[in-house]
Amino acid sequence: MQQTVQLQPAQAYQAPRFTVYQHRQIDKIEQLDKLPEHLRFEMKVVANVFPFRVNNFVIEELIDWHKVPNDPVFQLTFPQRGMLDDESYEQMATLLKSEHTPEEVFNLATEIRHKLNPHPAGQMEKNVPEYDGERVEGIQHKYKETVLFFPSQGQYCHSYCTFCFRWAQFVGKATRFNNNDEDLLHNYLAEHKEVTDLLMTGGDPMVMRTVKLRKYLETLKEPRFDHIKTIRIGTKSLTFWPFRYVTDPDAKELLILIKELVDAGKHVSIMAHINHKQELRTDITKEAIRLIRKTGAQIRTQAPLLNNINTDPLMWSEMWKEQTQMGMIPYYMFIERDTGAKRYFELPLYKTWEIFREAYKNVSGVSRTVRGPSMSAGPGKVEVSGVTEIHGEKVFALRFIQARNPDWVQRPFFAKFDENAMWLNDLKPAFGEEKFFWEDEYNTM
Ligand SMILES: *Cc1c(COP(=O)(O)O)cnc(C)c1O
Repeated sequence: MQQTVQLQPAQAYQAPRFTVYQHRQIDKIEQLDKLPEHLRFEMKVVANVFPFRVNNFVIEELIDWHKVPNDPVFQLTFPQRGMLDDESYEQMATLLKSEHTPEEVFNLATEIRHKLNPHPAGQMEKNVPEYDGERVEGIQHKYKETVLFFPSQGQYCHSYCTFCFRWAQFVGKATRFNNNDEDLLHNYLAEHKEVTDLLMTGGDPMVMRTVKLRKYLETLKEPRFDHIKTIRIGTKSLTFWPFRYVTDPDAKELLILIKELVDAGKHVSIMAHINHKQELRTDITKEAIRLIRKTGAQIRTQAPLLNNINTDPLMWSEMWKEQTQMGMIPYYMFIERDTGAKRYFELPLYKTWEIFREAYKNVSGVSRTVRGPSMSAGPGKVEVSGVTEIHGEKVFALRFIQARNPDWVQRPFFAKFDENAMWLNDLKPAFGEEKFFWEDEYNTM
């Protein structure tokens, strides 16, 4: 009971009602009334292809409407014309302007989505493990020590992000990654003693009620799970619905659950997805951070670098400094994945390194816990360590932060410099080599 008292919010906060708008409700969002009609039409066209979902808190507190359409949180949540190539856009726009059935729209959307590499990095085939001879669809086990779990009730978010690399999970009919069965997760973990980290992801696991989260997590306190040292929960809720930790009916129970896991000796880390420092400005987010930190859990932050949203290095260094000040640990800067609306958000690799370097050099050591810029590609997480010249050849220096074979980690390798390269598969080995050192082995995996 003492726990309950300790984890109280510092003051009474208003609990707003959670209201969410999806693509059929675009016309109901009052703030959009002031925008030119063509912008609203463009949004509707794009929202038929990519998932769209935004809540009242994001609309009312995080977006600066006088800066729209350039506001970063607006770009982060509302569909943008540039997310589709001209041909796909015109096809969908033409269909919407003429007489059409929902089925025709769905079929065209499906066709367009297929062209957008919906399942990057071999996620559908390569990372799904087996238990008792059957594929366990809700689990990905790519790196030896870490298991990713996709609880089926967590396969959506409080708001969707426009750039999201998991976009394909939120549209169409099939959600392939999910698994209703906590027993399956527990059996799998109990049998895999090499696993030290459980990473719950989604969607967003924090959309789940605490009773459900408890079913998945409480059991991990038992001795048969002593090898599970770390529990990470990936979430956007800290900035997109901070009420989850402060005023939601089961907010207190959530904090108690986290504290119980910490007290049982687990390292609990909330992996907070924060794309722009503007997301950190509300009092309720500050209070959520304070309450989570009181449980003894850590908060680590991560986000991709995105054209049209967060290309300013000064913003990144300020954001990392603020995060550190608030008690969070900057963890990853990612490179936008090769899927979905990447055409609108991607940047050349050399630019991602320039931005990272410019931001990193302006923070002190306590914020240099952040790593990147990193590509989550098939063979692993590849960091663009830099651009340099060796014996007159301009090259990218690269290294694995995390790899399918742990032995690849931290071995420098080099690719020919290419100002247009956006992703690992655009790169060719430097110095006349035929392949990268890991390629043959990767192809047999
Ligand atoms: C990033 C990632 C992890 C976690 O890796 P860490 O280096 O421990 O942060 C685990 N699984 C997958 C598939 C990942 O992409």
